[in-house]
Amino acid sequence: MPVEVDLHLHTTLSDGRLSPTELVRLVAKNGLKVVAITDHDITDGLEEAFEAAKAFPQLTIIPGVELSTDIPGNEVHMLGYYMDYKGARFQATLSRFREGRVGRAQEMVRKLAELGMPVEWERVVQIAGEGTIGRPHIAQALVEKGYFQYPQQAFERHLGRNGLAYAEREKMTPQEAVRLVREAGGVAAIAHPASLFGLVNVLAQLKQAGMQGMEVHYAEYDGPTRTRLAGAARRHGLLPCGGSDYHAFGTPGERLPGDLGPPMQTAVRLRELAKANALVRRP
Ligand code: AMP
Ligand code: ZN
Ligand code: FE
Ligand code: FE
Repeated sequence: MPVEVDLHLHTTLSDGRLSPTELVRLVAKNGLKVVAITDHDITDGLEEAFEAAKAFPQLTIIPGVELSTDIPGNEVHMLGYYMDYKGARFQATLSRFREGRVGRAQEMVRKLAELGMPVEWERVVQIAGEGTIGRPHIAQALVEKGYFQYPQQAFERHLGRNGLAYAEREKMTPQEAVRLVREAGGVAAIAHPASLFGLVNVLAQLKQAGMQGMEVHYAEYDGPTRTRLAGAARRHGLLPCGGSDYHAFGTPGERLPGDLGPPMQTAVRLRELAKANALVRRP
């Protein structure tokens, strides 16, 4: 069966390397029918994506977002779909978290200099462009300087959560992220949950908070992992979502849009959930 749905994609508005227009052209070329654009802490790429998708009547774009949240010892990413993303409260919250990213990126650049890997802050800002600044932009600056061959390698010892140059920033709890998405009438789904410690407890708590989906058909996951996650999704009554998490990093082996994703039935169900949420929403 060809893959027709991809619910996890990034653009240049966060740390992806394709503009919304370029991404829309690629997903259309790869035969996808329903895709969600889920940039980190930003929805500013959506209008351009909707505009570009007018050239592809068979393609539907779902408004999405990916929110980074923290629980002790773990980073949890929460995906939001079909929110009323233009709402002032929703945008003010995203904007606050984007600002936190700037100070944290500066801190990481400072630590890198101390570690003997100086990069120019102006260059990092330039790479990040108009949207959300993130670790992949710092990684790219490090590659340009010749310290590493691929951005991925910069994460291993330096930019990863336990890395030498890692810096924290203010994050929501996953419950707060779920609430933010639900209050905007959207559907919240936990991203790439396979490696989470205490997954069953996390899922139970977040389901309680109003989460309705979890990633299962995630392109990096092998068959046994997807089977295990599908079982967890069934037991917790969560919609099994997923996609490629495509960034166009160009890393060898990077999964492409259309490599793996949930069936069309998931996209149908996601839309039904969003419609029901919007009806019961209490702003
Ligand atoms: P940030 O939002 O600044 O914390 O950066 C998170 C992003 O960095 C993720 O969405 C990935 O794109 C990328 N990333 C995180 N960990 C790694 C890793 N170990 N290798 C490569 N990329 C990573
Ligand atoms: Zn990313
Ligand atoms: Fe993520
Ligand atoms: Fe992602």
